[in-house]
Amino acid sequence: MSSFQTQSVHQPLSWSVFHQVANLLQQSVGTDATVLTDTQSSERFVLVASPSFIALLQATMIDRDRCKLNLDFSPETIAKFLAHLNQSVPFVLQENKSYLQSEFTLRLIEILSQSANYSAIQHQVEQERLINQVTTLIRHSLNLPVILETAVHQVREFLEADRVILYQFNFPAPSCLLEGEVPALDPATPNLDGITYEARSSDAIPSILNLMSEYSATSLKRLQAHRQTLSDHQKLNSRSTVASLLNQPTEIPIRAELVTPIVVQDELWGLLIVHQCQSVRQWHDREKILLQRIAEHLAIAIYQSKLYSELQQQKSTLEQQIIDRTQELRDTLIAAEAASLAKSEFLSTMSHELRTPLTTILGMAATLIRAFQDTNHILTPQKQVEYLQIIQERGDHLLALINDLLDLSEVEAGKMILELQEFSLSRLAQQSIQLVQGKADAKQVHLSLELLPSGDQSTRDFRFQADPQRVQQICLNLLSNAIKFTPKQGQVIMRVRVTGGTAILQVEDTGIGIPLEQRSLLFQKFKQLDSSYHRKYEGTGLGLALTKQLVELHGGTIEVDSTVGVGSRFTVFLPLPRD
Ligand code: ADP
Repeated sequence: MSSFQTQSVHQPLSWSVFHQVANLLQQSVGTDATVLTDTQSSERFVLVASPSFIALLQATMIDRDRCKLNLDFSPETIAKFLAHLNQSVPFVLQENKSYLQSEFTLRLIEILSQSANYSAIQHQVEQERLINQVTTLIRHSLNLPVILETAVHQVREFLEADRVILYQFNFPAPSCLLEGEVPALDPATPNLDGITYEARSSDAIPSILNLMSEYSATSLKRLQAHRQTLSDHQKLNSRSTVASLLNQPTEIPIRAELVTPIVVQDELWGLLIVHQCQSVRQWHDREKILLQRIAEHLAIAIYQSKLYSELQQQKSTLEQQIIDRTQELRDTLIAAEAASLAKSEFLSTMSHELRTPLTTILGMAATLIRAFQDTNHILTPQKQVEYLQIIQERGDHLLALINDLLDLSEVEAGKMILELQEFSLSRLAQQSIQLVQGKADAKQVHLSLELLPSGDQSTRDFRFQADPQRVQQICLNLLSNAIKFTPKQGQVIMRVRVTGGTAILQVEDTGIGIPLEQRSLLFQKFKQLDSSYHRKYEGTGLGLALTKQLVELHGGTIEVDSTVGVGSRFTVFLPLPRD
């Protein structure tokens, strides 16, 4: 901002002007600023310094009534002056904020214009006013299109030019045009650039808005040939820049052209271009400087808007991340709560299931011991056998329960290894039926086995390859459940069938059935559909979970079909091993 640094008034002025400017300076800084003055001697001065505004006003006496004024805003000059006075300030001296400088200049010009008839000053007032308007717009708006549109119109009006345009480069490495080589562009992906904003004095001036040019290597070279023009304002007065860039030199009659680059963070972002079409025009230095200052402010606005949109982008990404993370946490929490609920339900069921047979075992054992020790306590041999049978039965039940638990944890840990071998599936089904026959008889449930397709014994001896112990476990679990949940006089049928490449095991009962809404819980471990403490049917809620795991370990699937009050049908599909 070198244009801010000194302002000298060559005409003699009255001392009252010096005092007015001195007052203005003191008003331009806050009360906590450093103010040094000497208003008595022939070389008078006022120095004001705050972190955002610094100035040194010096007056040289001409005679008793008149003086010459000099204003300096350069941090170096002010630092030297302070050193000369043996003074210092508690902050770093910096160039003035541009809006403060503009405001000060406007008021200074008002003072000067009242004291003398400065026609030249009028122009400067307008110029400062324009810059002030642009900077105010930039400070108050983040809407870049509005800022650019307004600036282009204001500049045209101020310069009374025929046309002002903003030529924008979209290609990613425009800095090469200022510094170095023409990049090797991929011809398949040409970048566009063109005129994005325009202001015209009247409709008689043809519009070139939205005129786009595709960057070919040739036009890049041509632009590079203008490199000097872009960096040297004296040479910017070339009427061919845009015309040659657009490769349409004859279609746009331009008599005079003033071009200023807009450089954002060392990258050539675009060009601010003024056209005179109807007459030849010589550009004044102050017009070139004005255009340059406007371009500098626009560069700030463009950078601000880029930062803002990056910030917005980051903000919305962060917001989305927070939403996703919150949802994840909520899901995890729900899953954890469900797991913890299932676990405590399981613990209470398990302790009940373990304690009930154990209490019976301990009670029976204590009664037997007492009978042996106490002669008054007589127990008939039949009773003794009965008690021992109960102990054995409950012990077996406990063992089965613990085995289920261990098996399930083994499958879940991925440690269960299947011992595959060939065996007769029909025989395995018959053995399973025999094993649960006692239970069925005790409940008066009719138990039967259907081997399909039916035929004589030899054709029904289905050979199968799997882990026979685990397949039997599957059959026993399904059969036990079917018997357990089927009332007296009910029926349980087991069907074994081999069709296509699949072995099908089916257990159908005429039991209580499973409500539709509870079916999804069936194969979850620790889930019993009736989990109330005093359940009617004993069990752990592990049988079906383990069954499903064993079926899947064999590469098979399990399905359930049930009607409440009518019965249930569990079907297991096991793939036949390939030859
Ligand atoms: P449990 O040891 O409690 O039988 P399972 O995992 O084998 O555990 O079964 C889970 C639940 O599914 C049972 O508590 C019961 O409510 C229901 N269920 C399983 N098989 C049947 C069936 N054949 N008929 C009706 N309900 C059944």
